[in-house]
Amino acid sequence: MHKKIKLMSLGVSKRSLVLLAAILCLLSLPSGLAAQRRERVVDSWRPIHYDVALTFNDQLNELSAARTEITLEFLAANVTKIDLDFGDLPIDAVTVSGAPVRFERQPDLLDVILARTAKRGDRLSLTITYHGRPKDGLIFAKDRDGKSSATGDNWPNRVHQWIPCLDHPSAKATVTFIVTAPPRELVVANGKFVTMTRNGKAPSLWKFDETKPIPAYCMVVAVSEGAKIDANEPTVTPLSYYMPQKDAAYAPKGFAPAAPALAFFSQTVAPYPYEKLALIVGATRFGGMENSSAIVFASTLFEPRGNDKMSQRFGIPTRIEDVVAHEIAHQWFGDSVTESTWADLWLSEGFATYFAGLFIEKHESEEAFREYMRGAATRYFNYEQQRNAPIHDTETQNLMKLLNANNYEKGAWVLHMLRKRIGDEAFFRGLRDYYQAHREANATTEDLRGALEKSSGKNLKDFFARWVYGAGHPRYQLEWGSMERHAGAFLTVNLKQLQDGEAFLDPVPIEFTVNGQKKRETVYPKGKLTTVQIRLDANPTSAEIDPDGTLLKEVAKP
Ligand SMILES: [Zn+2]
Repeated sequence: MHKKIKLMSLGVSKRSLVLLAAILCLLSLPSGLAAQRRERVVDSWRPIHYDVALTFNDQLNELSAARTEITLEFLAANVTKIDLDFGDLPIDAVTVSGAPVRFERQPDLLDVILARTAKRGDRLSLTITYHGRPKDGLIFAKDRDGKSSATGDNWPNRVHQWIPCLDHPSAKATVTFIVTAPPRELVVANGKFVTMTRNGKAPSLWKFDETKPIPAYCMVVAVSEGAKIDANEPTVTPLSYYMPQKDAAYAPKGFAPAAPALAFFSQTVAPYPYEKLALIVGATRFGGMENSSAIVFASTLFEPRGNDKMSQRFGIPTRIEDVVAHEIAHQWFGDSVTESTWADLWLSEGFATYFAGLFIEKHESEEAFREYMRGAATRYFNYEQQRNAPIHDTETQNLMKLLNANNYEKGAWVLHMLRKRIGDEAFFRGLRDYYQAHREANATTEDLRGALEKSSGKNLKDFFARWVYGAGHPRYQLEWGSMERHAGAFLTVNLKQLQDGEAFLDPVPIEFTVNGQKKRETVYPKGKLTTVQIRLDANPTSAEIDPDGTLLKEVAKP
């Protein structure tokens, strides 16, 4: 997704802040003892398919009825209960294969007690009937036309507020939505549109079927009185736009990057993974949310802003081009190949950030791409000032805080550096292999490393150890003396690394200017101080570290 665009105001008084500070002091642990995050694991059962039936009331402000039927498979021997994630909506019934069963509720949990112990490999169908207004996950809001709307917005684990499920990205499943809504409303959900039955003034019945397993946080419906426009350019998949009437005139222009992005990523990675693509202007707390085949953008997407920088190619603000390309890239990376754990989130956000950059490189210019990557570097450096932690983060407890410059901007830079290290051919071939091996499933950071090592024939263990499992970035400083004539035309050059922590061993290109001519050399650091002898015709007048921007680095003046 695109990071939050609105800052939530916290109604916190000064007094409670003082109290909070005191509590935080008490809670803070000595460094190195930070607690590991405990993730929801898929161990005793896994969902295979969700069949979700939702009935919206006429005012469109609650679910007058809901029923989720889960087809699941047991992964362990002697399972006696199914531990579901579920919020606090009132439950009307829980049945297994049609028979009522006992259940116990705790905050955010629903334990279904099995009448008969299940064996590994057994499958069953579990149905939960419920109703009400979810406190989160399914957002009821007025749209830009002032009309009621309902939009799913689940990241990272809020879908269980309206769909009982196993709410972790590794528990992927297919989903069918059957939505009953007032006849004035337009409904869209993940997957292929199957049917819509309209019967005069009676509620309409809509059915969508997503036949590819998707992460729970990507399961959405969107209900509104807005407009639907089908894209009339040829695309790799049926493409349509849903938005308030107010945005309908601008939408085809605003979404113009979508068709070329679909084409570009299809060529670069693999065929588009889903049955259609709906781009929805709706209610999300993010700039955009990449729900599989039904992306939701913030309601303010098309609102003009005073300082918008414009795209040369599309004549729209570059921020719109960026977010449209980013969310579409997620259809491959994040949705089809999903992070196995939250520590692997950069496989989703770093990829979407970098592929939006690649789209800009292709459709705007090389210079626009370099500017995009420089902006990413600056945002990352600013973030690192507040928090110097690895991309592969196993400690952060608040998952929302993982929407940070490590997973987005530094993740994109890691991909860029890998591309420059192993070359375009091996890089993109490796990404295609990685995608093929994990599509419609999950992947870890090690899966990516393995694929790129195989495609390049290079050992990338040290690179991943320093850049993904380690924190920070190099701050280089270059010093050179005068040419030692007696030793031949050699110049002694010191390349220092000033950052805290260990050295970065990436080769560092340096461009010397000698007698007005440019000469490239590469220094291979051995540690935080590397001294090399470089043969030059005369003393250089200047030197530039990494002139092509192939490394995420800062350079300190000597
Ligand atoms: Zn994203």
